[in-house]
Amino acid sequence: MARGLPKPKPIKGVKQVILVASGKGGVGKSTTAVNLALALTANDSSKTVGLLDADVYGPSIPRMMNLRGNPELSESNLMRPLLNYGIACMSMGFLVEETAPVIWRGLMVMSAVEKLMRQVDWGHLDYLVIDMPPGTGDVQLSISQNVPISGAVIVSTPQDIALMDAQKGAEMFRKVHVPVLGLVQNMSVFQCPKCEHKTHIFGADGARKLAKNLGLDVLGDIPLHLSIRETSDSGQPIVLSQPQSEEAKAYLRIASEVVRRLPPSG
Ligand code: ADP
Repeated sequence: MARGLPKPKPIKGVKQVILVASGKGGVGKSTTAVNLALALTANDSSKTVGLLDADVYGPSIPRMMNLRGNPELSESNLMRPLLNYGIACMSMGFLVEETAPVIWRGLMVMSAVEKLMRQVDWGHLDYLVIDMPPGTGDVQLSISQNVPISGAVIVSTPQDIALMDAQKGAEMFRKVHVPVLGLVQNMSVFQCPKCEHKTHIFGADGARKLAKNLGLDVLGDIPLHLSIRETSDSGQPIVLSQPQSEEAKAYLRIASEVVRRLPPSG
């Protein structure tokens, strides 16, 4: 650890923290975070999972997890996470109106994220999945440095621009000694629902090539599919609403790969 930096402080009640990150917005990071959280409990029902929406500028977890309302306070004045589908969730979207613009300076954002992590009664969680803000700014750095992280998952689409940003993300995690568990290649292929023809809209296997160059693993591929968009945006994530679909199975496999790569928890 670099000299002068404070030692990462665990989040009370949380065994393992998994970051879901992306170099840029719109690549499917939140959709992956939500389905990963659900897949972690679907694969092993003995595991308790939480989901923290650290994307304070554009919180999408309330909509994707079909949750609304304000957190109650516990006796010790901690916020109680909102619960749906067995997942304990916390998001800035529970504290401000979804349409209200968040105009904050960097320090305020960081202190808000700290509160969303620590002023919360998480209970006992095996895994806390954090949906990171896109990019590699101060907020991402401070989360990566202030909390002990078991591993990060980087989501990217297969085309060049998105991959360049994903590479920046991987390098940031390396610098702050956060283990990168691997890359998820989202929107890897589009299969026409009418004729079943497959089209690589964003190019084929870009993330696989990048992963090889960076010495990272690809945890899995998620196709570009209408059912993922519809279920995610309507608050019925596909892992839960269509667990037998190929798309849900892709998320379930990614969750197994994530667990396989995590360090043993204490
Ligand atoms: P990010 O968190 O990276 O900004 P989101 O998860 O919010 O991205 O996804 C952006 C949009 O793309 C959403 O409408 C979501 O439903 C859709 N989406 C994400 N992944 C897929 C996919 N594999 N197939 C179809 N639509 C997807």
